Formats: sequence, structure tokens, C-alpha cells
Amino acid sequence: MTKPHVVVLGGNFAGLGSAQKIREYAGDAVDITVIDRKNYLLFVPNIPAEVFEGRDPQESLRMDLPSTLASDRIDLIQADVQAIDIERKTVAYVPSERPGAETRHISYDYLVIAVGARLAYDRLNGFAEFGDTVSDIFHGNQLRRKLYDGSYKGGPIVVGSALFHQGSGAQGLKPYPEGSIPSAMAACEGPPVEVSLALATWLSEHGLGGPKNITITTPANMIAEDAGEKVVGQLLAAASSMGFGYVNNTRDIVRVAKDGIEFENGASLEAELKILFPDWVAHDFLRGLPIADDQGFIITDLLMRNPQHREIFAVGDCAAVTVPKLGSIGHQQSEIVGRQIALDMGKLSKDQADEPLAPVVLCIGDMGGGKGFYIRSNSWYGGDVQELHMGRIPFQLKMFYKRLFFANRGKVPLWGNDVAQFLAEKLS
Ligand SMILES: Cc1cc2nc3c(=O)[nH]c(=O)nc-3n(C[C@H](O)[C@H](O)[C@H](O)COP(=O)(O)OP(=O)(O)OC[C@H]3O[C@@H](n4cnc5c(N)ncnc54)[C@H](O)[C@@H]3O)c2cc1C
Repeated sequence: MTKPHVVVLGGNFAGLGSAQKIREYAGDAVDITVIDRKNYLLFVPNIPAEVFEGRDPQESLRMDLPSTLASDRIDLIQADVQAIDIERKTVAYVPSERPGAETRHISYDYLVIAVGARLAYDRLNGFAEFGDTVSDIFHGNQLRRKLYDGSYKGGPIVVGSALFHQGSGAQGLKPYPEGSIPSAMAACEGPPVEVSLALATWLSEHGLGGPKNITITTPANMIAEDAGEKVVGQLLAAASSMGFGYVNNTRDIVRVAKDGIEFENGASLEAELKILFPDWVAHDFLRGLPIADDQGFIITDLLMRNPQHREIFAVGDCAAVTVPKLGSIGHQQSEIVGRQIALDMGKLSKDQADEPLAPVVLCIGDMGGGKGFYIRSNSWYGGDVQELHMGRIPFQLKMFYKRLFFANRGKVPLWGNDVAQFLAEKLS
């Protein structure tokens, strides 16, 4: 190859978004290869909505990667990444189409690590027998069947998160004046909030109860603390007036059993259904690398470059700076990576490229019954925005965003964010 070669590890939100942005800003100055073990993008944020609507997410939430990438002249290798050799600038992978394939190596000039995180259900004692979740097609469909085939009888439900082990990789970064990347005790608490609200509506609609069936738990002092104290205060007030139970400071989940759940702080709750979110942990092949922190998350500055290896970027859930683990933050980061590589190619000036990450939590959740919630906040990082809106427009926005994403093959126009902000914040 004569052009610099960008290898992107992972092809879901952060990987696809980065590859597309690099092509957009750097043009044909680089060759781009994406490696992912699967050949489709899974639109994770809408799995809960599909489950509660009784639809199979397999049919509605997968986007074909080979054709999507080919339209931007980006190669896809369907393979399992095994190792990164930082000195030799190579990646070892095993093609994942059929078992038994040989290990191969690919060289890079730039490496974008976007492999997400392992959702460690295997570390939740008792989860395999008695737990449920909605973070992928398999688990979403298990829960959907329990709800729709009559297995669930209307008993108590716990929705909560395990303790997150964040790592030290983002310490010292200042995304806003006087701000920081905070320490989170749960990796991503938008999903438990969304699941609780939508499930309560589902229970009411199916004559099986309502908010009173559900207790929401958090390992932290305050659930969804990334949304900001004002927003969470409003959410909790609304939830308690509806009748939800709420238990904070649980620390970790110790055991999931047939009739309940036990927490590290000694509390236990009775539950027929346990809908849980585990620790988000780094992939084994990242742990111990000199570019990784003590938990295996990749260290970057706010331009998403590793400080020691400037040719290595990390984006999305695998980056230490991504707190909480939110797709919308990965989206902001992929824009930065595209501009940085274009800068190196002489396609953009420093002024155009060097805009550091100023994370904004943007979360649009389904509440069932055609309603949703919209949160836009940066207060956790030192900013001054805290917006919460509920009603029909946020729900329409959530569904519209998915349609737009699929129709444009992942390229959501920048004006879309402004329109969404206007609709949610001024009209709902
Ligand atoms: C139920 C739920 C709801 C959510 N709702 C929202 C929401 O409303 N808004 C929001 O912003 N975020 C939401 N999130 C979080 C969001 O889904 C994640 O932040 C986002 O998916 C992260 O994107 P990513 O590309 O970094 O990682 P992932 O989406 O995890 O993708 C990683 C990719 O890397 C590939 N990969 C991993 N390891 C290897 C390997 N060794 N070899 C080859 N390929 C590999 C995987 O196959 C995958 O395609 C939600 C999460 C959950 C679980």
C-alpha cells in the first residue's frame, strides 16, 4: 500500500462512525480497513423498545456492514482481533467466518481502537439461571418471551446495575474549565432508567401491575449521576410519585437467586424478574498494553490520541475517557478522530481539527405508551447544561433517529442534532 493505512478495530457505533468520519475529512489520502468479528452493526439503544413492543430485535436492529463500508471504499475483515503489537504496528487477528482459521497479521500507520467493552454477565453469580437483560439480541429475546408467553406472573421486579471498575486512565483530563472526567460507580445507567419506565407502562397495559412492581437499584449514591443533580432530582421525584421503589448505595451485586437478589451492602430484595446491567470490563487483549490503564481501558487525551503513541486512537466504550459508557459520547469522539487524521494528512488546519472532547450526555429513552424522556447534560464534567424533557416528542425523536441512522447508513447529519435539541427542548 502506498497510502497511510488506518486500521479500525470494531465496527459498531464508534468504529463505523470513526471510519466514516476519517473518509469524510481525509478523503482518499488514506486506506481504511475495519475489523469486526461480526458483519453487521447492532443498534443497541433500541433493544429495550423492541422487546417491550414484542418485536424481535434481530429483525429490526441490524445494519449490514460490508455494503455500508463499501460505499465509502472501506475494507471490512470479519475477524476476531487477538493482539496488538505496538512496536511493530501490527494487529493479530483470526478470521471469524468459520472456526479453525489461522492467525494473520495486518500492519497499520494509524490504529483506531473501537472494540467497546465486555459486558461481564459471566461475573454475576446466578445470572445465567435467574437474570435477564436487554443489551443484545439473545438476552432481549429471552426477556421478551418471558413477558409475552405468560412465564412472568406479575411479581416484584428489580432493575439495577453492578459496580463499575473504571480505571485511572482519564485522571487529570479537564474537558471544561474547572471540570474533570468523574469516577462512575455504574457504567451506564440510562438503560436501567429507560427499562424501568417502559416496563411499568407495559405492566399497566397488560394488567400485571405497574410502577409499584419495580424497584430500581444503583451501586452509587445517586442513579444516573451523569445526568446531573437537577435532572436526577426531577426524575426521582417523578418516579417516586408514580410508585417505583428506589434503593441506592447497593455497591456490587453479590448473588442473583430464583426469588431475589443480594447486594454487597447487605441489602436484599425479593424479585421474580431481575433485569440487570453488569460491570463493563475491558477486553483481555487490551489489558497490560502500555497504552491501557489499570483496568485495560485505552488512555487518550481529549483529542482521542494516546499520549505516548500519537498514531493510536481510542473511541467509544473502550476508551478510558468515555464515562459513562454512552454511544453518544463515542459519536462525539469519532468526529474528533476523523479531523485529527485529516490534520495529519494536510487536509484540515489545526484550527479546524484541534477541537478537544467536551463530553455531553445525550440520552433519549422510551417510556412506553408513545412517550419518552430526553436528557442533555454536561454538568458532571464541569459544564452548565442540565435539560430533562418528557413526553411524546422525545419518543418520536428516538424512533426518528433510528430511522435516520439506518436510512443514511450511520451518517447522521449534524443538523439532525440541532433539530432534535430544538424539538425536545423548545417544544416538549
Ligand atoms: C440496553 C442499552 C441501551 C443503551 N442506550 C443508549 C442510548 O440510548 N444512548 C446512548 O448514547 N448509548 C446507549 N447505550 C450505550 C451504547 O450502546 C454504547 O455506548 C455503544 O454501543 C458503544 O459503542 P462502541 O462502538 O464503543 O462499542 P460496541 O457497540 O460494544 O461495539 C464494539 C464492536 O467491536 C467488536 N469487537 C469487540 N471485540 C472484538 C474483537 N476482539 N475482535 C473483533 N471485533 C470485536 C464488536 O463485535 C462490536 O461490533 C445503551 C447500552 C445498552 C446496553
